[in-house]
Amino acid sequence: MHPKYKLKYQPEYQTDNKDHNFIPYARQSIDETDIHAVTQILRSDWLTTGPMIEKFEHAVAGFVGAKYAVAVSSGTAALHSALHAAGIGSGDEVILPPITYAATANAVVFVGGTPVFADVDYDTLLIDPQHVEKKITSKTKAIVAVDYAGHPCDYDTLRSLADAYDLILISDACHALGAKYKKKILGTSADLTVFSFHPVKHITTGEGGMVVTDNSEFADKMQKFRNHGINTDHRQRALKGTWFYEMTDLGFNYRISDIQCALGINQLKRLQDFLSARQKIAAQYNELLEDLSYVYPLSVHDHVSHGYHLYVVKIDFTYLGINRPDLFLTMQKRGIGINVHYVPVHLHPYYRNNYGTKKGLCPKAEAAYEEILSLPIYPLMKKNDVTYIIHVLSEITADNTAKKQPLSFNRLIGDNHV
Ligand SMILES: *Cc1c(COP(=O)(O)O)cnc(C)c1O
Repeated sequence: MHPKYKLKYQPEYQTDNKDHNFIPYARQSIDETDIHAVTQILRSDWLTTGPMIEKFEHAVAGFVGAKYAVAVSSGTAALHSALHAAGIGSGDEVILPPITYAATANAVVFVGGTPVFADVDYDTLLIDPQHVEKKITSKTKAIVAVDYAGHPCDYDTLRSLADAYDLILISDACHALGAKYKKKILGTSADLTVFSFHPVKHITTGEGGMVVTDNSEFADKMQKFRNHGINTDHRQRALKGTWFYEMTDLGFNYRISDIQCALGINQLKRLQDFLSARQKIAAQYNELLEDLSYVYPLSVHDHVSHGYHLYVVKIDFTYLGINRPDLFLTMQKRGIGINVHYVPVHLHPYYRNNYGTKKGLCPKAEAAYEEILSLPIYPLMKKNDVTYIIHVLSEITADNTAKKQPLSFNRLIGDNHV
């Protein structure tokens, strides 16, 4: 075997850090009960379209308090299915924030819609309802809110906007399984709520996704959509003793397997522990960062329970002797995997070339992008990993200067521009 495959999760580059294993920015938590759940399915009759699919859907729907859930092969497939169910099509505009994974906007393109970017709140990086309202036209059909980093969006305001303009509200809650808005777990705050089960997310199925909704028509549409637009699946026909089926719409193969759903069911049982572990790590970061004067955690509103898929800080590099690319590399050399979430989607060449988006469209997102850094966070992280990360960060930034002032957007543009 090539020696590289013996490494557990060390990347291929060298690290100078002899005392620590490499700390990735994110990592799944798989234990023996997960492995057992998967191997049981491998010995069973149904590897896909079997009973585990519905079981997983019921478990997630029950957990978030939604009536229906449709499991699919990825979070991206879930977004695509949700936009299809919402009836988005050619010429329809969908408003979304630029601080998200490209998949959020891509899914709008998949159904023939036009992504329209609304700027974010500078302190939380969540879509700003005021900017959403400014972007609404007669062609607007939906809003996709992204619960960035695990912080739920301002759903009360978004709901009233959606109702006032007759829009469908979709939540891309891929970062936020188990997060709460006003004491309620996310899953019913929007008309359709989308989750991802990629290994970096709260629970994993390897690849996988799900949409939850209280709308039975939406659920029916998505069930067909994940199976080529066909009205029954193989197992339903086997149970009924018939071979006949009809394809009524154009769909895809977005099915998820029973192997994946069995893993998902077991992971969901562990979610509460995962969430508490993430929240503990975030609290430890918050405390240690009080002492670093140029590093600021994002703001968190009082009325939410944060899911902490990501722990994002803003760094004011103007006063530091190091820029972000160098900081990134130096941290990596010291055995710490940091990341940047995200390059604003409207600045990607695909969107610039096909939708004419450019710099200046979302000034707050663009300014924040220059400052953000995602520090490692995942349930298996140790307390001294956090201490080590902050120690290295303070050493590299030589950050021991005067008192903290909260970062404000106004300082970047001058007060008279606001
Ligand atoms: C992960 C993610 C997705 C896509 O999920 P996949 O399962 O990777 O397809 C979409 N939106 C956001 C915000 C995500 O973080």
